[in-house]
Formats: sequence, structure tokens, C-alpha cells
Amino acid sequence: MEFLEQLPALFSDFANPKKRIFFGYLALSVLIALGWLTLVRKTSIAEALRRIFDRRVFFSGSAIADYKIFVINRIFTFFISPMLLSQVAIATGIYFFLHSLDFLNPAAFTGVNQATVVVLFTLTLFLFDDFSKYLVHRWMHRFPVLWALHRVHHSATELTPVTVYRVHPLEGVLYTLRGVVVQGVTIPTFYYLFGSAVSLYTVVGVNVLVFIFHVSGSNLRHTHISISYWPWLEHLLISPAQHQLHHSVAERHFDKNFGAALAIWDWMFHSLHLSSGEGELVFGLDASEGSSASSLKTLYLQPFHDIFRILRRRVRGFYGLAQRLMTRV
Ligand SMILES: [Zn+2]
Ligand SMILES: [Zn+2]
Repeated sequence: MEFLEQLPALFSDFANPKKRIFFGYLALSVLIALGWLTLVRKTSIAEALRRIFDRRVFFSGSAIADYKIFVINRIFTFFISPMLLSQVAIATGIYFFLHSLDFLNPAAFTGVNQATVVVLFTLTLFLFDDFSKYLVHRWMHRFPVLWALHRVHHSATELTPVTVYRVHPLEGVLYTLRGVVVQGVTIPTFYYLFGSAVSLYTVVGVNVLVFIFHVSGSNLRHTHISISYWPWLEHLLISPAQHQLHHSVAERHFDKNFGAALAIWDWMFHSLHLSSGEGELVFGLDASEGSSASSLKTLYLQPFHDIFRILRRRVRGFYGLAQRLMTRV
């Protein structure tokens, strides 16, 4: 009964401007897609609407799996939300650690003008958060144990805004911890250096830079509407088409465009792929990864099986090496 009362909370992300699938951002994404298709691609309004609300995409097996995973993962989130406590623990620990350092002077910059501190804090938090997303995403593709989890996201053969939730719960935990570390480091460091002048520049309770990212169509990266930017801009910001390339099964697109909002990390670390000159894309896992199955049982349980196999192989390899070394002695 108590669970039934919590039911509306499962869908609260649609009413939360901090979340990408907030209904306001979704509505703006529809308008942007409509503008792109009619003004740039010169399609009729009727054709544009048909492509935006394509039934074959939204009622596909892949999309239906997305919706189910969304609900299951939201239930899971209820049980791990107490983890937020760890952010306070990290922040407090770092704050006192900084105070213990003799060579640093607490509140050394308290004289700095408040507006400068707010701009600096807002920008630092956004940059650090976006870079940490790039890094963790890159690791997800680099390390087999993490790829076993991340392949759930890549198993989508159709992209809808809900695909952003198509992640294994353990990947969700890793991303939550990432956010905890970013905030747990940035907030106490700024408080230590600038004192009480620290505050975030927000719009509807969201970091203004995150807000700009969402109102400019962040949802469109998980759709079939291939909006690209000018090449110079795709060096700075990830366009929807660039993230769609990240989901492509074509080998030339592997390990490209890990970025969330900014493309500068991909540019700096040689994983940038511009979207111009690309034809129709096929989304999903490549044939060597097995099928892009949408069975929930496979999506939730296969990663545990794969991780167990990888770790067993590593342990055996380690034992073999140890035995060879022992026999030499
Ligand atoms: Zn990925
Ligand atoms: Zn994606």
C-alpha cells in the first residue's frame, strides 16, 4: 500500500527541471526538431511531425524495453538514495583536510567580489562535472568489467529520450558516486577558499549552464532526428548527431564522442568525430557483441554473468603466472 502511494514519485523526473526528461525540455526539443526539419531539411510540417513522433520508434521492442527499465531503475533508486549521505561525508572530510594543511590559508580570497565567485563556482562545477562524465564514460568503453554494464545502454536499437535511463543499475550507482565526488570536492574547496560568498548561479534551481544545455535540446541526442552543428561548434559542444554516432554499429564510430555537453574533452583526447558526411546510421551493438536483445532478464542479468567470467579469467591468469614463478624459484 505504501508503495502504491509512492507511485507518482516514480514519474517525478518529468516534473523536475533538474532532470533531462523534464516535460518543458521535452516540449522544447519537439520545437527544435520541428524547426530543424522544416527550415533546414525543408520537409513539410506533416512529414516533420510524422518523423518526430514515429510510431515505429516509440513502439519498437527496444523503446518498450527502455520504458520498463525506466520504471525498474526508478524503484531501485528509491533504495539507494540514502547514499546521498556520502556526499556530505566526503565534503566534510575534505573541508577539514584543507584546514589541516599549513601551507594553505583558509578564506584566502574572501575579498574577491561576490559576482566573480559565483561565476567561477558555477563554471568550475559545470566543467568538472562534464569532464568527470567524459572520463567515466570513456572507462565504461575501455575496461571489460565496466563495458559489461554499459553495453545495456548501447543495446538500444532505437533511440528515444527515455534511452538515457536505459542503463544497468550498477552503472547508475557509479554515475551517482561520480556526482558525489565532483560536488564533494568542489563545494568544500570553494568554501575553504572564498568563505560564505560561494553560491551557484541557477535558473529554476538548476546550474544555469546545465539549464542552457537542456533547453537547447539535450533530449534530441537520443532520437532519430540527426541535428548537426557547424564543424567548429562540434569541436566545442556535442551535437545530437554526434551522440547518435556514438551509438552507431559502424566500426569507424567505435570509441568516439564520449562527451556529455562539451566536445572539448573528445577534441583534447582524440576521440572526437564530427557528424558531417555521415549517412543513415544503424544503432545497437556490433555483431561480435551478440544480439542487441531487449529481454529484460538478459539486460539485467547478463552483465553479472559477464563480469564473473572476466574476473574468473583474470584470477586464473594470475594463478598461472604465480605458479610459473614458483616453479622457477
Ligand atoms: Zn557509450
Ligand atoms: Zn546514449
